[in-house]
Amino acid sequence: MSLFIAIEGIDGSGKGTQAARLHAYLMSKGHKSALLSFPRYQQTMFGQKIGDFLNGRFGTLETVHPLLASLLFAGDRFESSELIQTATANHDVVICDRYVASNVAHQGAKASGTERNELIEWIQHLEYSIYKLPRADLTLFLDVDVEHAQELIAAKSRRDYTDKAADLQEADANYLRRVRDVYLELAREQQWTSINCVQGTRVRTIDEIAAEIAAVVEASLPG
Ligand code: ADP
Repeated sequence: MSLFIAIEGIDGSGKGTQAARLHAYLMSKGHKSALLSFPRYQQTMFGQKIGDFLNGRFGTLETVHPLLASLLFAGDRFESSELIQTATANHDVVICDRYVASNVAHQGAKASGTERNELIEWIQHLEYSIYKLPRADLTLFLDVDVEHAQELIAAKSRRDYTDKAADLQEADANYLRRVRDVYLELAREQQWTSINCVQGTRVRTIDEIAAEIAAVVEASLPG
């Protein structure tokens, strides 16, 4: 059985960077590691439509109901089920740069109270029970406040799915604040490992964060 790791956090929190670092670290230690990244914008039929959604082709964030939006992200993983199965069957560790919790946090952020809770339950039921996607053994939450995350996004170059400097979600700081709030709630409720990426007023270095993540993962590896 492989260790299935999800790396979560708001846009610009360093997920892609840290997922790649962890993957390289594990391989350097002789582990068989697989690195997956969701959404799979280019590789799945759903992923391509997610690109359209994030570029505003189906309307603004407020006009697309979160339940309908969640179908695209869940569908992208459903379409990737075989890939996930093969990865877990052939590797000691599978790292996902974003997973089910990204859908939960991003769609959950668009509702509140009972509506939010129902939406969260519904998405988790869809992905885990209906689509039978495996649950992560370890979820690493990279916690960065929105201001620092937006500074990192501004520095980030071109994306492969949008020409805009920041896509619809990233452009909206208030939305990202709500996403972070849902993530913080989930981290508490679901016993995730939170990695505090900001120290005082500065974002910790990539090396510092990578070392903390490596230690957490080493401790979670069997034997
Ligand atoms: P995400 O995948 O969460 O959106 P990225 O890993 O793409 O975030 O990081 C966003 C940008 O910030 C990238 O240009 C990356 O090189 C840079 N970055 C990531 N982590 C750090 C860090 N700890 N310190 C400085 N820059 C960082």
